[in-house]
Amino acid sequence: MVSRSALYKECSELMKNCGTDDAEYDAMCIFQDVLGEKNPLFRPLEAVEERDEQLIRIMTKRRCSGEPLQYILGEWEFYGYPFKVGKGVLIPRPDTETLIEQVLDICRSEHLEAPRIADLCAGSGCIAVTLKKQLPNAEVTAVELSDAAMDYLKQNVSLNSADIRIIKGDVLSPETAALFGDMDIIVSNPPYLTQEDMDTLQEEVTHEPSSALFGGGDGLDFYRRMTPLWKTTLNSNGWLCYEFGMGQHDDVKNILAGNGFKNITLRRDLGGIIRTAAAQIQEDK
Ligand code: GLN
Repeated sequence: MVSRSALYKECSELMKNCGTDDAEYDAMCIFQDVLGEKNPLFRPLEAVEERDEQLIRIMTKRRCSGEPLQYILGEWEFYGYPFKVGKGVLIPRPDTETLIEQVLDICRSEHLEAPRIADLCAGSGCIAVTLKKQLPNAEVTAVELSDAAMDYLKQNVSLNSADIRIIKGDVLSPETAALFGDMDIIVSNPPYLTQEDMDTLQEEVTHEPSSALFGGGDGLDFYRRMTPLWKTTLNSNGWLCYEFGMGQHDDVKNILAGNGFKNITLRRDLGGIIRTAAAQIQEDK
């Protein structure tokens, strides 16, 4: 039998030695998950049961192989809500909370009490579900193509008891856009990594689906194709809100302006990177 503190030390050392950035944090998350306690080291000398020890060792090994902590835990928090995650779905990132804030601000300032919202490339559903939780009267639809992501999306909708509509479809196809009309807000965190980004991915990110990451050579394919397609689904004062990568703000802004959008507002994430844009369609579209 091994004590909690001895096993914790061993596992965090193992992870540190194989290059895990926040080895102690990751070890703590694994202990919390397996032992089901908020402060597992509160009783450091308590013996760890064999089954739990095995599980902790397996999870440590997976982390050492570069698998993201979030996949190993199977659940991650976004905007204070829990989301199931695993192979085949993009892990919700704090950067995306900026997109949520921007949409919520538009709803506040435009007095949209029951907006019709579509989340394109919904993935885990973190955007669609969070918006529905924050705006209970909103009519929210999530669009996703990948079967693996769809599985998580459905789980997360029910985990959070969010009453949203789910559509399986390609956001680049006119047939999908044709299902929508009179929308107040289209929101999306599409794949936006460039070829160069894809060639130099952090180990953890290589475990995530490239279909959720790669946005073509310069990373802008989705913005170029989605903007003209989805602006036709907006009502006369509707908004399009995008997340994008570091340094892509001018290009995304130009794409929006070139498609007749006005009131383009950019917003920085908590790391200070210009991360999102919101733009309103011209009334005489
Ligand atoms: N933010 C993600 C990353 O940097 C990319 C997500 C996306 O392409 N939408 O890995």
